Amino acid sequence: MSVVTPGQRASCPKHMEYGPCGGVDFDGTCEVGEFRCVFLDTPTVRWHGTPRADAPVEPQSGDVHATAAAAHRESVEPHPGAAAMRALLAARPIVVADFPARSLDRISLADCAAALAGRVDATLAGDSGRSRVQFPPSYRAHLIQQQGVAVWTGLNCRDRNRVALEGELAGLRAVGVAGVHCVTGDHTATGDRPDAQPVFDLDSTQLTALAAADGHLVSVAEAPTSPPVGKRAARLREKVLAGADVCFVNHAGGDEPVRRFIEETREAGADPAFIPCIPMVIDKGSAGLLRTFTTLVLPEGFLDRILHAADPYREGLDAVTELCERMLELDGVAGVNLSGGASPGAEVEFADAMGIVAERLGLRS
Ligand code: SF4
Repeated sequence: MSVVTPGQRASCPKHMEYGPCGGVDFDGTCEVGEFRCVFLDTPTVRWHGTPRADAPVEPQSGDVHATAAAAHRESVEPHPGAAAMRALLAARPIVVADFPARSLDRISLADCAAALAGRVDATLAGDSGRSRVQFPPSYRAHLIQQQGVAVWTGLNCRDRNRVALEGELAGLRAVGVAGVHCVTGDHTATGDRPDAQPVFDLDSTQLTALAAADGHLVSVAEAPTSPPVGKRAARLREKVLAGADVCFVNHAGGDEPVRRFIEETREAGADPAFIPCIPMVIDKGSAGLLRTFTTLVLPEGFLDRILHAADPYREGLDAVTELCERMLELDGVAGVNLSGGASPGAEVEFADAMGIVAERLGLRS
């Protein structure tokens, strides 16, 4: 069994057990400092907590700190929000939209939710590099769901220790969110709050186990183009063993890289539902925001097509819709995630544009 060494954990700025994170730069450099990621040259760290009942490999045991709760996972009933999204995923492909509202602004939140209501299947309300301070996840989810939109909550390990994360998971269960997207999170060295101390008490794989044990439908992220490229599918497999149901595939350059990644993951022995991220661009501002995403790879010519068009807004809607349609044709793809953010002041217009794409796809009809 491959496990992390004390030296690796101590040298990793995120203290990861199940590294590497998705922020490894394309040349192998850590997202935080000018040194090589400490996980690049060692075997994939195997999940050594309690495996899920339908695990495709023999159970291994030994991890206590991440999975005390995982032991009772099978006895925990999924809450209604998770059960409803599971049923939907079993019935048809879904469309998820990032949540573009201004942070800490209830009016912007309500307006953006209203623009998405009845048009998308869920909104992914997570982290933002330019707005690290958000309402607490369960309160934010409650406010959005009050407007009639199911919430898929992004939960990161940067801003909360395990006790606070357990509290949020309980709150999200009470709110009845559709899903919980478990990420390690960008380091505070990136984004608009470098003054804050990062926590990283747990990492995404460990948080996955806790969320699954709490009856949530759990998603994780994986970045097929981030080093070590050849080990990304194996790392996803370990997250599935920890309890992940769904993988949001980071921007990897189009449908062919996603098809290859699904194939590699299946060869590695795991078969979660895949929801690829689709770059949502309708103007220069949204293109600029997308460029701030770590390890972003876009389809060749995608941005030029939109930004050099006579009408970038209409061209953006067309390009995004076409890419969604190509993704949805792939075996294993369970939906698409319209991913990106708005120009300042254009949040509702951006949410409406995502609603238009969702309507064009016609998945809800
Ligand atoms: S790239 Fe991520 S996993 Fe690798 S050393 Fe840096 S913080 Fe740790």
